Amino acid sequence: MKVLVVNAGSSSIKYQVMDMTDEKVLAKGLVDRVGIPGTTLKHEPNGKDDVLIKKDLPDHTAGMKLVLDVLVNPEYGCIKSMDEIGAVGHRVVHGGEDFAESVVIDDKVKKVIRDCFDVAPLHNPPNLMGIEACEELMPNVNHVAVFDTAFHQTMSPANFMYALPYDVYEKFKVRRYGFHGTSHYYVSHRASEMLGKAYEDCKIITLHLGNGASMAAISGGKVVDTSMGFTPLEGLVMGTRSGDIDPAVVFFLMEKLNMDANEANSYFNKKSGLLGLSGVSNDLRDVIEAADAGNERAILALEVYYNKVKGYIGNYIAKLNGCDCLVFTAGVGENGIETRENICKDLEALGIKIDPVKNKVRGKETDISTDDSKVKIFLIPTNEELVIARDTLRLSK
Ligand code: AMP
Repeated sequence: MKVLVVNAGSSSIKYQVMDMTDEKVLAKGLVDRVGIPGTTLKHEPNGKDDVLIKKDLPDHTAGMKLVLDVLVNPEYGCIKSMDEIGAVGHRVVHGGEDFAESVVIDDKVKKVIRDCFDVAPLHNPPNLMGIEACEELMPNVNHVAVFDTAFHQTMSPANFMYALPYDVYEKFKVRRYGFHGTSHYYVSHRASEMLGKAYEDCKIITLHLGNGASMAAISGGKVVDTSMGFTPLEGLVMGTRSGDIDPAVVFFLMEKLNMDANEANSYFNKKSGLLGLSGVSNDLRDVIEAADAGNERAILALEVYYNKVKGYIGNYIAKLNGCDCLVFTAGVGENGIETRENICKDLEALGIKIDPVKNKVRGKETDISTDDSKVKIFLIPTNEELVIARDTLRLSK
């Protein structure tokens, strides 16, 4: 079966067509600036030249329609007709407490996705737009939702509850959910294969370090803890997000800077993190470059960033009562040689020793620990699309 994977953002649609007989990617691409003047579609067919199409598109349905036209194009398409697509897998960020697994989409599923608009206002509405656009254009195939929160539903209440009055959990479902679950799931399974141990027997700490960043502690095949919480704002220092903070700072700054709740939300999500602290950029590469040139605030931002990750490693080793391996993934984790080295520096007491020579690698599955490191350190490029395609196939047979 051939599966189409769709990841619809507020103004973008990422797609991939996979032949599930050998899990080969036949084509992938990105429609950018959907609904904004200057829409582009970059299509990358396997074994053929990339194609760039510029055409303003009013909405996600028009964006998906163009994707489908491109997929069957006789010159640069990858299938002869849309009948070859057996099912569509959709990335959905928030599934609340209702979904611990991927699911075939029906009206009830769409209602849950809609009910989560409140808690995932930037992600769930465009995810649902993508689903509805695809359903309209491909009404005769299964559509499957794969949730970023699903893997973390294996967490126990001892780790997902906040110490708040219990009724806010009962009334509003205020609790920790965690995100990037599909990525943590994929790289932790690959790590168990690299360790040569059954997944259920492994203690794994995964570090998904991208523009958004989160970590997870995994044991017995379940998530013990993860760094993002009710929203993707909690946890590590990110490109523009503050990560963990004393909540009293929020009330204090709302008063001092005369911000309402919406403005405060934007302040901690969009103006903080590496960008806010360094004053340079949200892109770690730029911050490193500025630090290398002697920019004091950039140096400080990097120190705060590394310290936060180290703190979570210690926290998770304590919660797991040991650890078989750390796994680095996503943009920073896969490419940031210096970042990986700085995070692992001075962690010998925890049995973590990085090999500086093996660490000089980007984007390739590798063991980067020294031979005598008790905790193995792996670089594993993430592949969320493959997890989505596999779940879609499983639920569509
Ligand atoms: P992602 O969100 O997974 O696409 O990751 C994007 C982030 O990866 C950007 O913020 C970049 O700063 C970061 N990144 C990419 N290459 C490097 C690198 N060589 N060193 C450090 N960070 C990098």
